[in-house]
This record gives sequence, structure tokens and C-alpha cells, in this order.
Amino acid sequence: MSHEPASAPHSNGPAADELNPERIIDVQFERAREHLTDIDPGLIQVLRRPRRTITVNVPIQRDDGRLDNFVGYRVLHNRLLGPGKGGIRYHPRVSLPEVGALAALMTWKCALVRVPFGGAKGGVTCDPKELSDRELRHITRRFIAELGDNIGPYTDIPAPDLYTSSQTMAWILDTFDSMHPGQNNLPVVTGKPLELGGSEGRDEATGRGCVYSAERLVALGAVPGLSELTGARVAIQGYGEVGRVAAQLLHERGARIIAVSDSRGAVFDPEGLDLVTLNAHKASSGSVLGCAESRNISSEELLALECDLLIPAALGGQIHSGNAGRIQAKLIVEGANRPITPEADDILTAQGILVLPDILANAGGVTVSYYEWVQNIEHHTWPLEEINNKLRVRMNDATDRVVARWRQFPPANAEETAALRRDLRTAALVESLERLARVLQQRGIWP
Ligand code: NAD
Repeated sequence: MSHEPASAPHSNGPAADELNPERIIDVQFERAREHLTDIDPGLIQVLRRPRRTITVNVPIQRDDGRLDNFVGYRVLHNRLLGPGKGGIRYHPRVSLPEVGALAALMTWKCALVRVPFGGAKGGVTCDPKELSDRELRHITRRFIAELGDNIGPYTDIPAPDLYTSSQTMAWILDTFDSMHPGQNNLPVVTGKPLELGGSEGRDEATGRGCVYSAERLVALGAVPGLSELTGARVAIQGYGEVGRVAAQLLHERGARIIAVSDSRGAVFDPEGLDLVTLNAHKASSGSVLGCAESRNISSEELLALECDLLIPAALGGQIHSGNAGRIQAKLIVEGANRPITPEADDILTAQGILVLPDILANAGGVTVSYYEWVQNIEHHTWPLEEINNKLRVRMNDATDRVVARWRQFPPANAEETAALRRDLRTAALVESLERLARVLQQRGIWP
């Protein structure tokens, strides 16, 4: 078997519509709905649409004295199972369709891992790289003040996301607390600094959850040609919070991390990268590129490597119709949200490549956010070991249910169901939507 990367693929970029976040969510939803023939279609439509969409203006005075106006969004997709839950992102490309699509994903993710939250997402369209800390603090405070009582410990609970951090969460808590004195406001946000009610294990939770879920999937014998993680060759796109933790835990399980990438490029060593050297190099140079005893390759080459596990842990839309055909992994674990388009899903399925979908693979983050919320309500802190054990049990349980559902799909050769999708993503969504539909029926449509 070759350990060399495939020759540099000239990736044909996908059509813009292929990457449209609303369309991706619609297609994934529709694929699951086709399995749910005994559920009232009207009920299913209620589950697709957001419950509430808020757009606010966020004016601030810049450091140079001029006034600038930003736009912020918060979408509460669904609150059937509990308060809304979802991150707040600051990025120039934040838009209402993107925030809405990510809010729906959160509803399905929370229902799948059975945490008592609905789905939400928010963001401000701005370029955080061009804003000072003071300006970011002012944007945060004004955004949260404008949202008013539309967020709250039992209403809708934000968390960090793209270019927001525990510091942003501290500002949100402080703002909300000033507006609601005399009550326990700690549970209004998760992902807070440890000293301010954050939870042990939250930073690592998403990468850790990816590994727990992949480990369980392999142990269940679901991945053809892969019976254990020991000796598995792993390529990781995105060496950030999620990718770095996944790399470390897989290494501890005897896997070989043969390639990792960041926004500047990728490094490759067929014998396995030395993670201590890699982390020191990234810390000193700001990138993985140029790490000792490895070879620089392009991000596209990393995706095309012959490996056992491929973990996209960077951005959405990275695996599409233009490059999916070159992928040689046995299993793709979606650390990032929606890194694979529906067109790419079809290509991968045809190639026999399994995808552990985002709403399962990266649900460790929201799971430990839930633990943070519970600890805040109880005025209590749990030790790291307890949190990791609880996380493992929950990820295993969700993985077991998705695999059981997947194995129950009607055979592909049955004529009347020939067009149905039979991938793990569809199984995860079916599992999630069925639960939500049941709850909606039990609660009844108001009035
Ligand atoms: P991060 O910012 O810590 O890391 C992202 C990494 O991706 C960085 O190393 C960056 O350099 C790299 N990157 C950016 N563009 C790239 C490109 N084109 N090719 C290769 N690498 C690229 O972010 P994170 O917290 O690790 O999150 C990663 C992904 O996981 C995001 O999509 C995020 O939405 C998703 N996610 C994160 C969490 C969480 O708890 N952190 C939870 C669920 C989902």
C-alpha cells in the first residue's frame, strides 16, 4: 500500500448552490423525511422551520471615534425539548441563512444525544481580525442588550463559536447579569472561563466526543476493513481545538496521525507525525507548515491521502462534488459542522466510504455545555473524570442508536424503497426527527 499522497488533485470547485447552507439542510432533511412515512407531513414541516428569527442593529463607536453599525442575528430554531442552545459567531460572512441552517443542525444534534435543549444559533457580521478587544466588547454588550429577554438561562443559551471565545462569554454573562440583578445568571451562557462557572473538560469535549463516537462505531463492526483504532492511519483537516484534541486521543489509542493541516497548508509523514514536535512547532511558528521530519503538502492533497480515518475539523463545505471522488479514507468523522455536501455524500456512499455525521460526531461540545449548565444551576462543580465518563456513556449510547437505526434500513434492492438514502447521516436524522415529532405530538400544537 502506498503511503504517498495522491498526486496534487486539481479540485473542480463546486457550483455556489452546492455550498448554500439552507439548501444543504433542506436536502439532508428531505432524505430523512422519506423514511418517516408514518409521520404527518405537516408535523415534519413544523420541525423544519425556525420558531423565531431576530435581526438587530449593533452600533458602536470605533477606537478612532467614528460610529459604525453592524448587524446581528439570533435564530431560535426549536424549543420542544428545552431552551434554545447554540453558539454565537463573529465573521464577515455571517448571514441569516447560514445562522438559520446551523440553528436547525443544533436542534437535531441536541435531540440525538438527548440533552434537554432545543436548537439556536447567532452571529454578528463583522471582521474580528480588524476589531480591537474594546470594540469586540462593545459589539458583544450592545448585541446582547438588543437581544434582551430573548436569551436567558431557561430561554435560549449562547456559547462560543467561530471567532468568539470564553472571554466573549464572560462579557455576555456580565451584560445579562447587569440587566437581571439578584438571580443566578451563570447558566445564561456556556463555554465560560473556569473561574466564572465554566466546566472542566469543555474545551476538549468536541474532539473527545469525535474519538469516543468513532471508537464505538469501529467496535460495533460498522466500518468495513477497520476493526480497531490501534495502527489506524489518520488525516486531520484543521489543527485547532477539535482537530488537536482528536489527534492526541487517537495517538493515545495507538493510531498514527499521518497528516494535519491548518489554513496555511498541510504536513505529511507516513510513519506518523510526532505530536510533541508538531505542537511546539505550531506554538512557535503559528502554523503546522515546515514541521521537522515531515513534508509540506497542500490541503487538497491531505483530503486525497490513503488513510483509515479522515477528520474534517475546519470549515463547512470542504468535501464536495469536485473532490469527493479522490477520497480514499475508510471512515470520515465530521468534526466540523456540515463539511460534506449532499452531492459529495452520494459519491462517498457509492465508493463505500462511511461518514460519521456532524450531529453525532461533534455533539460532545454541546453535551459538556449541558453539563456546565447543570453545574451552574446546582451551584456545584464536577471533576474532569466524572465529566469525561458521562460524555463517553452519552456518545456511546447515541452511536449505538444510530447504528441500530442504520442496520434496520430496508435493503437497497427492495424496489419500492430503492431511492432511499441509507447512510449514517440519514439514520442519525431519522432517529432525531422521530423523537422530535413524538414530542411535538405529545405536547400538541398550541392552542
Ligand atoms: P479552531 O478555530 O480552533 O480551529 C480551526 C482550524 O482549522 C484552525 O487550525 C485553522 O487554521 C484551520 N483551518 C481554517 N481553514 C482551513 C482550511 N481551508 N484548510 C485547513 N485548515 C483550515 O476551531 P474549532 O473549535 O477546532 O472548530 C473546528 C470546526 O468544528 C468548526 O467548523 C466548528 O464550527 C466545529 N465545531 C466546533 C465545536 C467546538 O466545541 N469547538 C463544536 C462543534 C463543532
